[in-house]
Amino acid sequence: MSGMIIEGKTGRWEIVCGLEIHCQIISKSKMFSGASTHYGSDPNENVSFVDAGMPGMLPVLNEECVRQAVKTGLGLNAKINKYSEFARKNYFYADLPQGYQITQFKYPLVGEGKVKIELDDGSSKEIGIERIHIEQDAGKSIHDISPDKSFIDLNRAGVGLMEIVTKPDFRSPEEAGAFLRKLRSIVRYLGTCDGNMDEGSMRCDVNVSVRKVGEDGFRTRNEMKNVNSVKFVMQAIESEARRHVETYENGGTIEQETRQFDPNSCTTKVMRKKEFAHDYRYFPEPDLPPLVIDEAFIEQVRSEMVELPDVRQERFVRELGLTRYDASVLCENKETADWFEQAAQGHDAKKVANWMMGDFFALLNEKKLSLEESPISPANLGKLVDLIAEGVINGKTAKDVFALMAESGEAPDKIVEEKGLKQVTDTGAIEAIIDMVLTANPENVAAYKAGKTALMGWFVGQVMKESRGKANPGMVNKLLAQKLG
Ligand code: ADP
Ligand code: MG
Repeated sequence: MSGMIIEGKTGRWEIVCGLEIHCQIISKSKMFSGASTHYGSDPNENVSFVDAGMPGMLPVLNEECVRQAVKTGLGLNAKINKYSEFARKNYFYADLPQGYQITQFKYPLVGEGKVKIELDDGSSKEIGIERIHIEQDAGKSIHDISPDKSFIDLNRAGVGLMEIVTKPDFRSPEEAGAFLRKLRSIVRYLGTCDGNMDEGSMRCDVNVSVRKVGEDGFRTRNEMKNVNSVKFVMQAIESEARRHVETYENGGTIEQETRQFDPNSCTTKVMRKKEFAHDYRYFPEPDLPPLVIDEAFIEQVRSEMVELPDVRQERFVRELGLTRYDASVLCENKETADWFEQAAQGHDAKKVANWMMGDFFALLNEKKLSLEESPISPANLGKLVDLIAEGVINGKTAKDVFALMAESGEAPDKIVEEKGLKQVTDTGAIEAIIDMVLTANPENVAAYKAGKTALMGWFVGQVMKESRGKANPGMVNKLLAQKLG
């Protein structure tokens, strides 16, 4: 059980939470105009007459946005609706020049789906998807350039969004965090959204209520808008749930509100009373026909899908013998999984995984490098693992070789050859070093023979040192035992 229980004065409470996630669709042009979606252009550089809400301009649906949303729906095991409709959601805001947002309301493009999440205790849980509808993004108001003026940048106005709505299935902050990470991983695998919460291309509204353990039905929820990191979502859920419990236990009631989470104080404060659907005067969008897609379109999209993280993880466990944990870490993002598969190709996959998750990730972290910037190629990491397996170098030397690879980007076999790092497995050579060490330390030899057998480790260390780390440790142990025995 991964649910979180809040112990109150009057009893035990459970958390009920559902998420609405806005994901910016990856597409070259906007949802209803030909303007570019490029991020980081000069303000108002990418604005067509449609995006600016000029009178008489008509929207034209970008097929690529539909394709991307369908792909996302398939990735979330959801039902794709062959018939959907656009609707107008009317509200006034300075960064919304049309005075309405084109969205979907009664008939969304994607219906119910489900996503599996894994939790820290090793259990897993299925989270229901309610729907995904597609809509246009608004522009941005900029208040921090001038003390007495606000500016509007419409570059974002009209960029395609997918709003992914979950069922109220989360029972703890941990479950919501696991879901967001899973969702981000899936959309990144699919290439339908870049999933960057800090840049606002994935934005999360968090709905929270509580109820007594065992109680049927749900109580009134509050919604926190645009929480912009996984950590903040988790904190917002917990702090809001505790506020509800406290309110109820003090005899108060919760009213449906839209609130804002403040990460500094870890509390929420009210923004406005919750607006209801009827406040928006939704009606079918008269400028666009219903969106009708056929089986062939859906199958075409399905055929373009890559292997998703869950399936890939299963395969790594089944075919490559990785532990479930290792497989889940390596599969979280596609680039890492691709890199690993390349490195493991033809080598001991488990050992490659160990090196990757240990020294290799530590190196990237320390040098603040991305995978593409890694000085060590996948093929060279695979080779290093082989050199150890074949007994050419021992584990300790391998660490040194790895450090040299990180510096020069050279292949491990070349480094071993050039620096003369090959493991010494020649019995005669090792025996010579052992004899030298024993002769130089008669007191310790005597002590060992008198019963202080713990000195064995010390002798091994001396011999390894004299061999500059290159002696085969197994042989050193065996030969020493014979000589001292
Ligand atoms: P609306 O259309 O008013 O935004 P929805 O029914 O679409 O409402 O729900 C919005 C989100 O709120 C969904 O993610 C849903 O799971 C969640 N939700 C609905 N009821 C509750 C509740 N009582 N407690 C927590 N979350 C809820
Ligand atoms: Mg809503």
